Amino acid sequence: MQFDDLIGQERTKHFLLQLAAGDRIPHALLFLGPTGSGNLALALAFAQLLQCENPGPRGACGQCNACHKSAAFVHPDIHFSFPSVGANAVSTNYLKEWRAFLENNPYSDVNAWLQQLGADNKQGNITKDECNAIIKKLSLAIFEGKYKILLMWLPEYLGKEGNRLLKLIEEPPEQTIFLLAAENQEAILNTILSRCQLVKTDLLSDEEVAWGLQQRRGLDATRARQVAFLAGGDFGIALGLADNPENDDAHLLLDWLRKCWRGHPVELVKWTENFAQLGRENQKQFLQYGLHFLREMLFLLTTRDTNLRLRPEELSTAQNMAKVLDFDKIAQLVSLLNDNIYYIERNANPKTLFLDTSISMHSIFKS
Ligand SMILES: [Zn+2]
Repeated sequence: MQFDDLIGQERTKHFLLQLAAGDRIPHALLFLGPTGSGNLALALAFAQLLQCENPGPRGACGQCNACHKSAAFVHPDIHFSFPSVGANAVSTNYLKEWRAFLENNPYSDVNAWLQQLGADNKQGNITKDECNAIIKKLSLAIFEGKYKILLMWLPEYLGKEGNRLLKLIEEPPEQTIFLLAAENQEAILNTILSRCQLVKTDLLSDEEVAWGLQQRRGLDATRARQVAFLAGGDFGIALGLADNPENDDAHLLLDWLRKCWRGHPVELVKWTENFAQLGRENQKQFLQYGLHFLREMLFLLTTRDTNLRLRPEELSTAQNMAKVLDFDKIAQLVSLLNDNIYYIERNANPKTLFLDTSISMHSIFKS
């Protein structure tokens, strides 16, 4: 991946180009920014630049042997680490899936990745065995590159296992560089944060996302603007919407809201049973989508501005709901969905949880 392939982030690209041109590269960089802003893509491009045999003023040359290998994600001195599923999982077992994932959409989120691994009801993590594998990999000599690079996506998933890597990050072997791509600063161990130089990325603008859609997916300007508007600065979501114009979450949410409104017990039980089959990662993503919808509704209520990040069918539902819900009720719904994300992450039984939530939603609607 080259800098010119990336969407926006001009300030960060400029900073990284200067860094690579200097003679001292920090041995641990943490790329930090919102989901879909391109942290992973930037880390990939920077890794390619560091290994490139003929780097120029705009980044890696794209032509040399090292660039060919980096672009295909097979450079022997660029090691990858990422969340996977199972208590003893190590990243090297998933490299084929990982390369396909990067090839398809390096702006995508962890939910899409775990789905690709067939995670169903399981949570992703970066395990103790993976940390030990990293320590072993980085103790080997460089094969052919200029540096030995460990690129870790989402160090948030290390949890306390991250402590195993502290010494290595602080005093890495010669010519060894850690590139970490993260989205949530609060979920990263402080001891890791304090050992890394932060490289912050910005939320992409609608214009940048629209431009990226025209370049990557050949959308016409009008459609690209519509999709960018819905994606709210997340280029991963934008590509997903462009590739799958039918967004299941939107239909599912509208259907659920209608059923909660009616509060018919048999209907709610049936909905909950179907929903419980979806798997935790999908349920979490659905709740995130629900929060997005409620935020847009709050915006509608407070400003009466209908220029929302919602499609026509969602907008008309939001307008109808805004007639009967006040600020306070929407705030209650938001906190209900937030609580559910918390419980899902802690393995609550989805049937009980969502039936209970549906009943609570009904009472909020009707109170
Ligand atoms: Zn090159």
